[in-house]
Order: sequence, then structure tokens, then C-alpha cells
Amino acid sequence: MKERLLKLPLASKVGVLRGLGPARAEALREAGIHTLRDLLFALPFRYVDRGSVLSLGSLDLAGFDGAGQGIVTVLGAVREVRQSTSRVQRMAITEVLLDDGTGTLRLVFFNQPYLGRSLRPGERMLAFGPLVHGRAGLELRSPQFELLGREAEASWVRRFLPLYRKLGALGGRVRQHLVEEALACAGEPPEWLPPELAKDLPPLLPALKALHAPADEDDPARLEARTTPAHGRLATEELFAFSLGVELRRAGRMARKGSVVPTSPELRERLKALLPFHLTGAQRRAFKEIVEDLTSGRVMHRLLQGDVGSGKTLVALLAMAMVSETGGQAALLAPTEVLARQHAANFERLLGGRAGALQCLLGPMKAVEKREALRRIASGEARYIVGTHALFQEAVQFAKLQLVIVDEQHRFGVKQREALKAKGLDPHWLVMSATPIPRSLALALFGDLDQSVLDELPPGRQPIASKLLAHGAAERAWELVGRELAAGRQAFVVSPAIDPTDETKVRLRDIQAMEALLRQRFPGVEMEVVHGRLKADDMAARMARFVAGDARLLLATTVIEVGVDVPGASVMVVDHAERFGLSQLHQLRGRVGRGTAKSCFLMLSDSESERLQVLVETQDGFRIAQRDLELRGPGEFFGTRQSGLPQFQAADLIRDAALLRRCREAAAEAVRAGLSEAQQDWLGQEGQRLRIAEVS
Ligand code: ADP
Ligand code: MG
Repeated sequence: MKERLLKLPLASKVGVLRGLGPARAEALREAGIHTLRDLLFALPFRYVDRGSVLSLGSLDLAGFDGAGQGIVTVLGAVREVRQSTSRVQRMAITEVLLDDGTGTLRLVFFNQPYLGRSLRPGERMLAFGPLVHGRAGLELRSPQFELLGREAEASWVRRFLPLYRKLGALGGRVRQHLVEEALACAGEPPEWLPPELAKDLPPLLPALKALHAPADEDDPARLEARTTPAHGRLATEELFAFSLGVELRRAGRMARKGSVVPTSPELRERLKALLPFHLTGAQRRAFKEIVEDLTSGRVMHRLLQGDVGSGKTLVALLAMAMVSETGGQAALLAPTEVLARQHAANFERLLGGRAGALQCLLGPMKAVEKREALRRIASGEARYIVGTHALFQEAVQFAKLQLVIVDEQHRFGVKQREALKAKGLDPHWLVMSATPIPRSLALALFGDLDQSVLDELPPGRQPIASKLLAHGAAERAWELVGRELAAGRQAFVVSPAIDPTDETKVRLRDIQAMEALLRQRFPGVEMEVVHGRLKADDMAARMARFVAGDARLLLATTVIEVGVDVPGASVMVVDHAERFGLSQLHQLRGRVGRGTAKSCFLMLSDSESERLQVLVETQDGFRIAQRDLELRGPGEFFGTRQSGLPQFQAADLIRDAALLRRCREAAAEAVRAGLSEAQQDWLGQEGQRLRIAEVS
């Protein structure tokens, strides 16, 4: 690559690169690549180690396994391209003859007629795929490939060849050229990392060079595992940038004025009167932290997390009462109607004589009811408000909203907050997480929230006997269910939700089959069936019948997983338990054992018994969550791509948990001490994109 004399900052737009037409620029833009830094931080998805590229002359099938088939990587020049059509199925066949000077090999592609038009003799191609015996000797069948340009530009004398994903109209090879050009013209930025983070790391540009054009003596295993010092530099940059954003947002929040909620001995007495039992030590600690926030004059932004059954709801009610008993309004946002109704019923009971101040607001309410609810909220008559996302619709006007609690649904908190901001409201904010979240993830996901943790269960809670049974032993589960039902208790049966396009479904028992089984096994027992395809009010009515005890058996998909409280239920059977995440199973298990009866949790499964065994061994939700996270990774852990988790190129939230902690500390210190000039420059260039100014 040609070195340019005048070096450009990494924040320069990619438009400065040569050979970037409108279509390619558009492809980059769509992939979120705007600057040289973006382009260079997007690493190759793979490196081909030329040490492992086989020369064509050396190929023979003898070295491969019994089926005579193995995956090989080859590199050569296209000598000939032939296009034909198979006689029987009228299928396009493209044959390419590859030549590397030591021998030749036929590559065969099916149904990709455009290849015949686009591949040109002289083009160098890197191909990997299964080597098989074809009609005319050895061939590579339907290989994956990369085009490396014309023979004249031999740049593949390097050992490691980086491969880039195609981005829309932008092929991997062109991308590599752009990267090379960017590396040649980018200047080393001033060091912006605090010395304690930077001390063992290579500078940024050499690190980027090492990752886009690895030196021949690099260790392929470390490159593949992304653990080279160069990766360390990028991961640290990413995590420090993220941390700095979090800390700056936090500092911004600290500077914001929040409504001061008054306390008094009299109020404390009133709150105490609401409590049906003594708070656990953890609940007391969490509540104290909340009170400190509410009386501090700052805006509270707190995550309340705790194991299933640790009593988050009671803490939430106390926080609401702080506000509502002193003339303000507090709203609890529940993820589903079932849960909103349950919270409302709970609060009604606890509030006793003051329940007149309680108001529920749900999506599908009758028009008259809704109008009255909105009126009560706007007039301030309603001070304890419980609802679903309907709470944040435009028509809702609050008299004096001081506190919002988001239950079980951290993912959507951000949007709701924006909706409120649009109304000019900046209430205190408490997020309750459904399941325990490992610390590293909590830091990444809720970085700018303060945390309160309920790490203690209310006294007298009996451990839930948990068992893993093969389907062959399912009869034991049904006997137990029968016994509990006969003793007047209730039972849950959970079936996995099965996507009809899932190819493995043939082997799974779906909810219909389970319903038939249960009806036959427990004739005359009142049963309700709930699943995600039901209309909201139908679902709520069915759940309500079970909660009220009118139905004794509930067959459900995971729609019941969060929060539902049915004290009469003492047993749960989960079919095909391997289809669930560990945290999800733990959350499901938390639906039983909420009353006084001894409870059981039975998982039916014929596979993954080692993973599921974790649930049998421990009831500690934090340990289960950590294991779940290690096994499935952060994206899966939250069950969705839109979980709000930050996306990193080189950093890995699990592997780099300790590094993230160091970055957080360093960023907090940097903000406290005042940013260095390099950090301020960096912020000027990158800050807007990180939405650092955004109020959280
Ligand atoms: P979660 O944290 O899973 O949301 P809940 O708030 O639903 O837990 O509480 C679980 C159960 O424990 C409820 O039945 C609740 O009434 C009860 N509970 C909560 N706090 C206490 C306490 N301090 N002492 C006894 N029982 C409690
Ligand atoms: Mg709860």
C-alpha cells in the first residue's frame, strides 16, 4: 500500500477514500460505517492461513475420511469457465477450472448461472468446500469463494488473508482495498485512553494494521480467538468509549434537578401500616437506597434486581407510597395486562382504606371506563397508577407524576422515558428486572443506573424440589400432579412455543398434543390453556380463572413466565425443558412455591441433561444466570436482538467482564478529574454518534 504524506484523522468520512462510488458509499452507510474509524474497527470475519491452503498438485482423497470427503481451502487462478444445463432437471451448472501452477482442480456450482457471466479467466480465487469424486475425477462441489483480483496485483504473498463480509453492493475484496487505503492514509490519533488502561497496549494504528494485515509470524489460534494484543487495544477502546458515554450521562443526570419527596415520622408510620410482614434485610436496604434518591433533589435512576420471589413488588409499592402519600403520583408499568391486573389487585389489598387512590389503565378498556381513568389521572385523584404501555400514550395527562416503576421489562424502559420527556416530564425512575442479571451484563445494559440488589428470600420459603426426568419416566410427573390436584392444590404444565416453520418440530410434542394428554390423564379436572396466539382479553380471562382457583390445571407456553403469582400452585411440569434457557426455567420455577405447601418443579427432557442439571443443583438465580450467560451469550440470554445491549466489534461482554469493570472505573475517574485534551477531542468527534448527550 502506498503511504500518503498527509495523514487524516480517523474521524474523517469514508468519502475521502478513492474508488468509493455512490453505490458503495450507500452500502457502507447502511452498514453504519461512516468514518475511517468505523471502517477499520469492522474486523475481518475470518483469516485464511495460507499455511493451510493446499496446493492443487498435492490433492488426493486418500487423506480424507471414509466417505472420501473433506473440506479443503485452495487458491488459484481461474483458467476456464464453462456453463451448461443438466439434462434431467434443467439445472444451471457452472464449472470453473482453477490452476495454481502445481496442478488444476474443477469447481462445480449449481443453479448460479450468473457465475458463468461474472467469473473471468485470470481472476484469482480462494475457494473452500468439500472435495469429492466427481464424474471426471476430483472436484470441489458448491464451494464458498472469495475473488482476490487479477493475477497482476499479487498481494497474497502475505500468509494471512483477511476475509470481509460483503456489504450490499460492496464485495469483500473491494472492502479489503478500502481498508488498505484507509490504513495508508489514517494518522495515529493522540492517546486518549487513561495511562492505566493504555500501558500494556500497542498504539491504535499498529493494532489496526495487525488485525487487517496480520504479520506472517502471528499465531493463527490467537487471531481466530481474537485474543492478540491488537484485539486488546480495540476492545479497550470500545469499552472505554462505552464507559465514558455512560459516565457522562450519569454525570448529566446528577446535575439534573429531581422533585424532592418529603419524608416525616408520620409518613414512615403510614408506610409501615401498609406492610403485611417484616421486610427482609435486603428489602430494607433497597428501600433505604430508594428513599435516599427520592429525597436527594436529584433524579433517581435505579435498577432493582433480585432473585425470583425475593419480594420486589413490595419494595415497589413502598416506593410508590412514598410519593403518593405526600401528594404526588406514582405509576407502575407492567409488561402484560395479566401482570398489571395482578399488581393492581395486590396493591388494592395492601392499601386497604386508601385503595380509592388506585387507578388501573389498560389498553383494551371500555371507552367510558378509560375516559374516567384518564380523568382521574389528570385530576390527581388517582395517585397509585398501574397499567400497561397504554400509560404512555398521548392522551394520558398526569397531574403530578413523580415516579415511574418499570416492571420486568427493562428493554422498553428507554422508549417510555422518551415518551414522557416529550411531555416535559422527568420523573424518578425505577426499573425492576424479571430475572437476576449477571453483573457484567448489568453493567453493560444498565450502566448508568444505580443498583439495588435483593439477595435474600423472605423467611420460611421452602426450597422447590427440582427433578429432571426422561420422557420415558414422565408417568412419575403425572402421578405427582394427580396427587397435588387431589389434595386441592393447583398445577402448571408448560409446553414450548413451537414455531411452525421449525424443522425440528416433528419430534416435539406441541401444546395441542399436551392438552389431549392432560384431558385424558386428568378427566373432570378444570383446565385452562393459554398461549401467545390468544387475544389479550381472552388470555387475561383464562389466567384470571386459574389465579382465582376456578381452574386447577394451567397448560401454558412461556406467556406465564414472568411474575404471575398463584399461591395455590404447588407443582410445575415443563415439557421439552431443553427448549428453554436456564434463566427462563428458573423464572418459570419461581411460579410455584409461593404458598405454604411444599412444591415441586419437574423438567421432562431427553437431551442436554448436563445443562439442565444446574437447575436441579441450585436455586440461586444469580448463579443460574451466570451459567446461562456463559452458555448462550448475551444476545440469547435476553432472548432478543433488540435487547439494547451495546454492539462491540472486538470486545466480548463475557470474556472481557473484568476489562469492562476497569474501563468503568477509569471513565468515572476521568469524568471526575476532568477530561484530558485528547479525550475532549475524541468526544468532539465521536460523542454525538454515541448519543452521549442524550438524557437517559
Ligand atoms: P418477585 O421479586 O419475584 O417479584 P414478589 O414481589 O412477587 O417477588 O414476592 C414473592 C412473594 O413473597 C409474594 O407472595 C410476597 O407477598 C411475598 N413476600 C414479599 N416480601 C416478603 C417478606 N418480607 N416476608 C414475607 N413474604 C414476603
Ligand atoms: Mg414480581
